[in-house]
Amino acid sequence: MATYRIAAAIKRSVSEEFLLVQQDPPPALEEDEYQHYVDSNLWDLPSAPLKPLEGEHQSKEVIVGGDALLDELDLRTFNIDSALAQIASQVGRVATICRSWSLLKYVEEADFGPDSPVKTLFILGTPTQGDEDFSDSCKWISKDRVANSSSDDRIGLLTIIGLLDGPDESRKPQLPSVFLSHSIQEYPTGIMVIPMKSRTQKPFSTTNLVLIVAEDETSKSEDSDIIKYGDALLVDPGCSIQYHPDLEDLVKALPRKLLVFLTHHHYDHVDGLSVINKCNPDAILLAHENTLRRIDKANWSHESLAISGGEKIQIGNKKLEAVFSPGHTDGHNALLHLNSKSLIVGDHCVGQGSAVLDITSGGNMKDYFQTTYNFLDLKPSVLIPMHGRINLWPQRMLCGYLKHRREREFKILRAIENGAKTLYDIVADVYADVSVRLWIAASSNVRLHVDHLAYQGMLPKDFSLDDFNASYDDFIKKISTLNLGI
Ligand SMILES: [Zn+2]
Ligand SMILES: [Zn+2]
Repeated sequence: MATYRIAAAIKRSVSEEFLLVQQDPPPALEEDEYQHYVDSNLWDLPSAPLKPLEGEHQSKEVIVGGDALLDELDLRTFNIDSALAQIASQVGRVATICRSWSLLKYVEEADFGPDSPVKTLFILGTPTQGDEDFSDSCKWISKDRVANSSSDDRIGLLTIIGLLDGPDESRKPQLPSVFLSHSIQEYPTGIMVIPMKSRTQKPFSTTNLVLIVAEDETSKSEDSDIIKYGDALLVDPGCSIQYHPDLEDLVKALPRKLLVFLTHHHYDHVDGLSVINKCNPDAILLAHENTLRRIDKANWSHESLAISGGEKIQIGNKKLEAVFSPGHTDGHNALLHLNSKSLIVGDHCVGQGSAVLDITSGGNMKDYFQTTYNFLDLKPSVLIPMHGRINLWPQRMLCGYLKHRREREFKILRAIENGAKTLYDIVADVYADVSVRLWIAASSNVRLHVDHLAYQGMLPKDFSLDDFNASYDDFIKKISTLNLGI
């Protein structure tokens, strides 16, 4: 079922400024270790869920111009009064904020999954009782400031989508029309994230293609660390074969001086590589040498460059730096957009749930923890994963990942201390509440946790790592029997 929100652009009567509310961070984690990782303030338009009426009377508030949406959204069937009351309380008003509200725009979120896209109704109004009478957690901001916000004073997604034109209008001429059927999210300004159907693992069904296009031709800068310049950048072209014609249209519409950055080699990140190879022989591929080594040579015959982290690239006036981030695989690189501190994290994090490490491609739990700490130290303003939604509370999310992995590792150690000796024993104990179908994926992380426990010298003396490692085939045999229901 679709989820709806209403977001209010409250415009100051005396100037072109809009009211933002400081957003509440997710609940903090209890453990002391995580207390000093704190996200900077995040400001966004006041907003509230828009729920269908359930026996209540039709709302008194009418959105001027709302009739234009009738084919997509019948506002008479929603509880607008309740949503506006929540918005009023966020900005510290007890009574109505504005005499009348008008429709600003109606935006369906890109299809990041796994749940259905959120549809947001943006409304516009000017305060009735003057501009000053709002709570201390509010501030006014101009559109210019929104477009150039810093990572110390972060502006949320609704403000960018609601107040700025976004890719639909400003970049339309640059993107082929077929491509606009894939919804695009631009956040922060200049970084487009496009979820495209891919052969990825459940619960996701898309891989985010990240696109940056230079506003002006890229001119060489003084910075000697820049290893490549491009007029456009694509990160992780992983769409499945049915969407290759769309990707082809996109690549043909992009400037020839194209850089292609791969976070890692998994097929849901490289499936579209052959399309770029075919359409643009001038494109240059950038990836870690362990990633380049694993890519099918038939898919890339042009220039490629091995990067190990720390190298910078420039697209127009945007500089990005590769961040070596092993853990998911041993050739995994993230990419930090230096101007906005947006961190494209590959598969190190996913929009929701936890990441699976790939033991067959050098996945390593010690590296995974270390990379997570490195990401925390970068103090990113937003995390852009390749599966699922972006995350605007990076410090909280990364600490959540550390905590989750530690808890799993502790449970694994407990199972071992209670006598579990084989991979099957441990998985069956630790993942008892998870469907057997997910046990194979989980077993990769279990094996890497056991390695990590061994590295830390925490395994009991009577636990044989050799016997444990030798128990893999037996695990697979037992799992296939269970899955077949024999
Ligand atoms: Zn992956
Ligand atoms: Zn992936």
